[in-house]
Amino acid sequence: MLTITNATIYTPTQRIERGAVLLDAGRIAAVGPADHVPCPPDAQVIDADGLLLTPGFIDLQFNGGFGQDFTDDPTAIWPVAAQLPQHGVTAFLPTIITAPLEKSAAGQRVVTEGRPAGYRGATPLGLHIEGPFLNPTKKGAHNANYLRLATLDAVADWSPATGVRLATLAPELPGALEVIEALSSRGVLISAGHSAATYDEALAGFDAGVRYGTHLFNAMPSLLARDPGLVGALLTDDRPTVGLIADGIHTHPAMIKLIWQTLGPRRLNLVTDAMGALGMPPGTYLLGDYEVIVDDTCCRLASGSLAGSILAMDQALRNLVALTGCPLEEALQTITTTPARAINLDHERGQIAEGYVADLVLLSPDLHVRGTLVGGELVYTAE
Ligand code: ZN
Repeated sequence: MLTITNATIYTPTQRIERGAVLLDAGRIAAVGPADHVPCPPDAQVIDADGLLLTPGFIDLQFNGGFGQDFTDDPTAIWPVAAQLPQHGVTAFLPTIITAPLEKSAAGQRVVTEGRPAGYRGATPLGLHIEGPFLNPTKKGAHNANYLRLATLDAVADWSPATGVRLATLAPELPGALEVIEALSSRGVLISAGHSAATYDEALAGFDAGVRYGTHLFNAMPSLLARDPGLVGALLTDDRPTVGLIADGIHTHPAMIKLIWQTLGPRRLNLVTDAMGALGMPPGTYLLGDYEVIVDDTCCRLASGSLAGSILAMDQALRNLVALTGCPLEEALQTITTTPARAINLDHERGQIAEGYVADLVLLSPDLHVRGTLVGGELVYTAE
């Protein structure tokens, strides 16, 4: 057993001053003001010394990092995941972009075979398969040679139990609605993205089961006064959770403020969409089949198209707070409770509450990661 005491706890919806948590067998056994949380004599104690304690961050779109790309090599998922706690990420969806379906099948095997012996790091909760059922006119950095129409056969073995948690597709394409209905009935979160859907086509997708939008504003038509399109549908329909790359490059800082004011903490989900260059010096890195030129701030194909990001999740949190001035309680929801709810894991992840998985982050008051626990085990401590 482990007690963390003397922390300002964000559950995240409630703030507890001088709080404590008791962790037992990888779960949260108790949380509250320190004098209300039992401290068994045999429990190890961490004095948080006034640091903030929050739920672990959950990233629903993460292509790779630290020099490796999951689409190029799905076996990189575990070694890359081992480095994610330095950014506060304790659980994530390894994202496989458009590729032959054997690639995502290989990724499914990697995540369903489970953690390697002695593994310490973030937990992959299943894949986010982004493509190949995308609109060629909105392909972004995806390889058009592998784009195809969705069929029930192609997704026959996609389910959370077989390692698929989220699938991004273009709902306006022939056959898509039938596939959306089938996958969502199996518990796969379906997202509209890389799509040229009109407003009406987007609503038809929501009616069929779409409940997420992939990187709002990117790889979809712009919002227009008489043509709201997919962006307008995602912003105004209450059903979907909406993913956003809050690096200030994929969307202008003023748009991030507008999106925040429109969606709020229960519908906005910050993602990184980070690629292999995360945590590496500027240079050339792979995203799927393509070489991506990376400088200090962004990642682009030779054509100039944005291709993933080098955004870390803790930086995304700091960006949202700085750009909107929102309370930390609300900003934290966009990377904890909201993604957990979107993928139907909110009964055990995304909150500091009794019975929940003990995935936790210790943050400094300026929101830098000082320590990270996964399943009750301290897996990262800042120097
Ligand atoms: Zn994308």
